[in-house]
Amino acid sequence: MSQMVIQLDKKTLSEINTYYSSSIVKSAPYSVFTAKTNDTTITAYKSGKVLFQGRNAEKEANRWKEMDQTLTKKRTSNPSASAASSELPAHFSEWSVVGSDEVGNGSYFGSLPVCAVYAPKEQLSLLKSLGVRDSKNLNDQQIIQIAKQLEVQVEYVLTIITPQKYNEIQPTMSQGKMKAILHNHTLSKLLKKISPIRPEAILIDQFELPSTYKKHIADEKEQILEKVYFKTKAESSHLAVAAASIIARYHFLKSLDELSKEVGMRLPSGAGIQSDHVAAKVYERYGMEGLEKTAKVHFANTQKAIALSKE
Ligand code: MG
Repeated sequence: MSQMVIQLDKKTLSEINTYYSSSIVKSAPYSVFTAKTNDTTITAYKSGKVLFQGRNAEKEANRWKEMDQTLTKKRTSNPSASAASSELPAHFSEWSVVGSDEVGNGSYFGSLPVCAVYAPKEQLSLLKSLGVRDSKNLNDQQIIQIAKQLEVQVEYVLTIITPQKYNEIQPTMSQGKMKAILHNHTLSKLLKKISPIRPEAILIDQFELPSTYKKHIADEKEQILEKVYFKTKAESSHLAVAAASIIARYHFLKSLDELSKEVGMRLPSGAGIQSDHVAAKVYERYGMEGLEKTAKVHFANTQKAIALSKE
């Protein structure tokens, strides 16, 4: 039986703890945990020392030693949560990244889809060849076409909040909090889906200060904050976010389409005057219930529509 001791950084120690959490058997005095895998016993100590024993001890230990070195290197340029947004490390666009974005939060009609995509470095050229780029520079037809291919090619998780659900939740929390919780939930699901693979970083298309985001998810059972970066216009910083944005937009368009069919009139995107007029028609035909099913009713458009329908 071979054995090997390595010294790890505190953060890698917490990673190793999570990694072996399902194989933990007990914790000895002064140890953080003892875990048993196929043929290796791993004992981690509070000091950061980790003891590997068994047939694969050396191999397993070396893997973590290597990971510790890369992680420590990356951490030196890691974001602090109080910063206005994250400074991304050099060559970030070439990393294996999980990216997340939401669409539809500014539109009166339609759902609020949040999507997280895992884009490993080996897939980046494929994403490029599919035409993945900033979705604001793509028309609806292109969005639909690219999204359909992405859904086959990439690992992703999509959470869709229908208007009805949105209207149920919205009175109890701000839209910012709702979005933070949705991103956190979607990211957590994707990380589980791709496990044991771990992305080198997570990039969230920023919609508020990282410190506020953190506060919003403080009560969540699981908080995805490790290796997380926040950046506005993040779709231009990594294709993972661009892809997430395209899938989310596709489902937003789809929801507008489906809801339009249900009410028998074309529901517009956005929250302008056109939305007021269509909302007035929906209200006249179906009452408040019609708006609750198709729109985010706390928007000012609702009152404008009611006023319009009285004219
Ligand atoms: Mg966004």
